[in-house]
Amino acid sequence: MPDAVSMIIHRLQDAGFEAYSVGGCVRDALLSRTPYDWDITTSATPDRIKKIFNRTVDTGIKHGTVTVLVRSESFEVTTYRIDGKYSDGRHPESVSFTRSLCEDLLRRDFTINAMAYNDEKGLVDPYGGVEDLASGLIRCVGDPLARFGEDALRMLRAIRFAACLSFGIEEATLDAIRRLAPSIEVVSAERICAELGKLLTSTHPELISLLYETGLAGFVMPRLVPLFESGDSEKLLSSLSHSSPDKIVRWSVLTHFTGGAKEIMRALRFDNKTTDSVCLLTSHADASYKNISRTELKKVMAVLGKELLPAWFDFLDALFGDSFSTALRGTSGDILEKRECFLLSELAVTGKDILAMGCPKGVTVGHVLNELLDRVIRDPSLNTFEKLTPVAEELIGAITNN
Ligand code: ATP
Ligand code: MG
Repeated sequence: MPDAVSMIIHRLQDAGFEAYSVGGCVRDALLSRTPYDWDITTSATPDRIKKIFNRTVDTGIKHGTVTVLVRSESFEVTTYRIDGKYSDGRHPESVSFTRSLCEDLLRRDFTINAMAYNDEKGLVDPYGGVEDLASGLIRCVGDPLARFGEDALRMLRAIRFAACLSFGIEEATLDAIRRLAPSIEVVSAERICAELGKLLTSTHPELISLLYETGLAGFVMPRLVPLFESGDSEKLLSSLSHSSPDKIVRWSVLTHFTGGAKEIMRALRFDNKTTDSVCLLTSHADASYKNISRTELKKVMAVLGKELLPAWFDFLDALFGDSFSTALRGTSGDILEKRECFLLSELAVTGKDILAMGCPKGVTVGHVLNELLDRVIRDPSLNTFEKLTPVAEELIGAITNN
């Protein structure tokens, strides 16, 4: 455990409470993986937690969670909790605090996520998490039908954890997913998106096949269904498993095969930048890019922008084979190194310059600039103010005379 986590646990214990690290961090530490964050569970109620630590934030005080700040880091400290009835498969109607660690662990989704640890008591594992970690199994704590009935998102989490950890899903748990798949419909797009994202960028993105096999696909990504039903899913799955784990790359590969990139990204409430990037890549997915000229490549670079280039190359490699983009990477590297202009923003004349040369305001300015860029892309040596000025004047003259 990191020092800050031990410190938080000891402070709570010194005040007479129980405290443990819990959930994902315990699981990851046992797997010798670096935990993403460390969560702490305690018998202290939120108001006690807030009295014990100087710097706290009321993150989820209704649910018993207080964020404790230590130096520049933050840790979620949550009171032992029993979740009330879930009325809608989304939120517990109420939560109540408990004095029992085992009751808190019982509300957690999978056995491997239902373990706690501190230095004094060691590992607390009442539901067989260690055994399931050793055999690589995702298994619900308790009755899977009841657990998925409480929170349908857990079905997606089961598949996500299987993909992230290279685990299998225990038979009764998998069966329950097959039976309750349609109930995922009540879960918000944001929660679904977060889990799908982790699934897709995991070490086994090809396990999206489980979405189809369990019947979840029809609800979380309907376009996957015809792809699997027509037997055309092989290429998608192998492209995914051979692709770089980058988010943009994986979503681009997926939506390249399903079609409807924009529709899918919008439905899952992705931000505009991610959506635009994925749409840009999927609209540049042709095998003929392999042999394009330097000039043509610069034109593509102008559309994609510098930032997206590495993802584009990874995307093409995923679709057309590992070394597909080798030549493209070389040429684009050379273009960037020689600072050859391929963007309007790098042109040696600006819109202001064009106006000063007598160009009428409005769309004409853009036409002139784009024509100049086109010429500079073909002949990089043209990109100086002196050389572009007469060309621009000639273009303006031709346009205004018409
Ligand atoms: P990650 O590596 O993605 O952070 P995690 O296991 O830490 O995985 P979180 O979503 O951060 O997952 O949740 C922390 C812990 O809270 C889980 O390990 C689990 O014990 C519990 N938990 C989270 N979501 C649920 C849920 N929907 N139902 C039941 N328990 C949950
Ligand atoms: Mg976590």
